[in-house]
Amino acid sequence: MTTHPADNPHSSPAPEGSGAGRLHPITLVPGDWIGPETCRIAQEVLDAAGARIDWDEQVLNADTVDQVAASCRRNGVALCARVDASPTPGRVPPTIALRKALRTWAAVRPVRPLPHTGARFPDLDIFVVRETSEDIYAGYEHEVTDGVYEAIKITTEAACERIARWAYHVATRHGRRKVTIVHKSNIMKQSDGLFLRTAQRVGAEHPDIETEEVIVDALCMKLVRWPQNFDVLLMGNLFGDIVSDLVSGLAGGITAATTLSYGDGVALFSNPHGKAPDLVGRNLANPLPMIQAASYMMRHLGETDIHERLQRAMAQVLRDGVRTPDLGGSHTSTQVRDAIIARL
Ligand code: ATP
Repeated sequence: MTTHPADNPHSSPAPEGSGAGRLHPITLVPGDWIGPETCRIAQEVLDAAGARIDWDEQVLNADTVDQVAASCRRNGVALCARVDASPTPGRVPPTIALRKALRTWAAVRPVRPLPHTGARFPDLDIFVVRETSEDIYAGYEHEVTDGVYEAIKITTEAACERIARWAYHVATRHGRRKVTIVHKSNIMKQSDGLFLRTAQRVGAEHPDIETEEVIVDALCMKLVRWPQNFDVLLMGNLFGDIVSDLVSGLAGGITAATTLSYGDGVALFSNPHGKAPDLVGRNLANPLPMIQAASYMMRHLGETDIHERLQRAMAQVLRDGVRTPDLGGSHTSTQVRDAIIARL
């Protein structure tokens, strides 16, 4: 019998941070729409940066979820573009099915704007850490009677502890000073009360990191006014879904929306946008969001030098005015690629 990952609150998506310079086996899901062309560019940029990667390219659709999940488990790391989620009757969208198959339980969104990307707060530097295995967002719903539906919010102490430990791990690893626990325990006293209490208990084990708590609606108000006051935000599944996009919006949109999803022994790096059907095949899609996902993947693999060089090269390219039309420029995707490679 397989155990639910929440059974082990100490579970971890290793192999984080090991093996700079080695050959990394990585699953690639080029996805649909502009996914294949932006993934290709990300691969070329990684290659130019000196990353040594053994790509295991996979097509993800409703029929291949098990095969792609096996590849992700085997390699431990995957770079994923957006996949067509057109509903297949009786089946969940392939990306969600893949995350369920891999039992991912954490999503981390590092939000740090690149320059000249329209960020309202250019100095923002926040990690949003979101539990993704339970809560009302898990989608357990049913019809009680005609015209009445019920959605179930599940909160377990094990999953709360696991995500809290991951948030403090992220804070420690990245030298952060504060974790803010986000909740609505004034209304959902039992479920969110458990989330808050558990996170506070884990926080007490980290006296070097400040722990504070804030109710989610107050957080949203504070975020749009004083986002610089926040550092690592820890929250459940539904609030995390909403707040991640709020913070990305403050930081300039699609280039600040990389999502890092973690399960036991597996980490997926993706760009949640990147559909852009009007741009497919026109060499006009902005490749930076996919390169950002690839850059964070390199950092996860311990290739900090490659990550930092990519960050600097992207910043320089933007500063020099090399940008695709969505950022107000007139350059093509491949011109942006070439400019990055030239600056690496
Ligand atoms: P959906 O609403 O289903 O999420 P969408 O295409 O509207 O699909 P996104 O893919 O999230 O949503 O994109 C939002 C907007 O940003 C769209 O106008 C899209 O064209 C644009 N966009 C997304 N990714 C890129 C990109 N890499 N380069 C340029 N524009 C992009």
